[in-house]
Amino acid sequence: MLKNDLLEAWDRESFFHPSTHLAEFARGTAPQRVIRGGEGCHIETRDGHRLLDAFAGLYCVNVGYGRPEIAEAIADQARELAYYHAYVGHGTEASITLAKMILDRAPDHMSKVYFGLSGSDANETNIKLVWYYNNILGRPEKKKIISRQRGYHGSGLMTGSLTGLHLFHRKFDLPLDRVLHTEAPYYFRRDDTSMTEAQFVAHCAAELEALIAREGADTIAAFIGEPVLGTGGIVPPPAGYWAAIQEVLERHDILLIADEVVTGFGRLGSMFGSEHYGLRPDLMTIAKGLTSAYAPLSGSIVSDRMWKVLEQGTDENGPIGHGWTYSAHPIGAAAGVANLKLIDELGLVAQAGRNGAYLNRAMRDAVGGHAHVGEVRGEGMLCAVEFVKDRESRTFFDAADKVGPQVAAALLEEGIIARAMPQGDILGFAPPFCLTEAEADEVAGKTAKAVQKVLGTA
Ligand code: PMP
Repeated sequence: MLKNDLLEAWDRESFFHPSTHLAEFARGTAPQRVIRGGEGCHIETRDGHRLLDAFAGLYCVNVGYGRPEIAEAIADQARELAYYHAYVGHGTEASITLAKMILDRAPDHMSKVYFGLSGSDANETNIKLVWYYNNILGRPEKKKIISRQRGYHGSGLMTGSLTGLHLFHRKFDLPLDRVLHTEAPYYFRRDDTSMTEAQFVAHCAAELEALIAREGADTIAAFIGEPVLGTGGIVPPPAGYWAAIQEVLERHDILLIADEVVTGFGRLGSMFGSEHYGLRPDLMTIAKGLTSAYAPLSGSIVSDRMWKVLEQGTDENGPIGHGWTYSAHPIGAAAGVANLKLIDELGLVAQAGRNGAYLNRAMRDAVGGHAHVGEVRGEGMLCAVEFVKDRESRTFFDAADKVGPQVAAALLEEGIIARAMPQGDILGFAPPFCLTEAEADEVAGKTAKAVQKVLGTA
């Protein structure tokens, strides 16, 4: 392991960290943490602190840290063949096997997998495929994409535009044209608090219908959504939401892209969120849990219906003009094969469902009654605690009070990593699937302590 007393100084001088307050980091007033190891649900910092990572990195280390099976598969692949490209019909044993394994797990009507490196580039691919599809079908005007407020789909030009969070637009001249945002299925934050859940679902569908009517259905190509809103607040949809949305989309011949970057490969206790909520997507975005982040790899899963049209397009125009040097990188693919095998062998999808439900119960018991906790919500191995200034009137704290970040910081002092979600005072949890009941109790108990420290015992 690198021993270097200058490492922290080099970090401040040289390293442009993503999603970081640049000025505070350079001044030394923002956190700086160098991580050197990990085992199960825990990571270890360079200065020797052992932390329980209740966010699995960025909800991606689903099988937990330090799995030798995946490390060995990566090393074997690097020794045998570190790289070959996938253009003009090339493949490797690992990439072909992984494509087959993904389709074996995906809904029956899905047909092919295109590999990328990140959730963002997989969504860029999806949007290009949607445009290509409509051009082949002779519908050049049908190009706009509807996303949801608070949706998260990446931070590229198009994907950052689809993302419905202010932070990702501000000062970047986003969103680009062709992107529209509709109501988030966020019942707790509905404007009209007198609405029942069923009324709110009808309202979300009516908002979508009205947006389509305003823009013209012949200009709208696709709708993109996460089965459970993730970075926007960890918000499971109200009952009936997806059925109501899909009814509108099908009536207007609008494609559905299910962004399964967080939900894919087990996080909800089902293999995919689409299966969990009855979505019938035309495209699915996968990343994170595909390799449990042991190597960067993502994918776009394409349905039969779209595939037939894409094939037809290449008959007319030659090869499809879309590819990355590292598409289907053999090392990522080898990590993916080993990861999916491990998930099956250890029954981790079922464990995520079981222990995730346990964590959600424990969290509700620990903090659900606190005067400043408005809601504890979750699904599978996802859980969120949302803070309010006043429960009765459902008023929120000022963002400047930084209540969410303060609770996350207090929890970190207790040795637990949770995430202060970027918009609203929401503390998010998305642990590895191997979280035990004892670890879930520890996370919930220490969260209660942190909440009390910041917001009192009320
Ligand atoms: N889609 C969703 C639902 C995500 O949560 C994320 C990342 N948090 C992305 C896309 C983008 O993935 P990446 O950061 O790998 O580009």
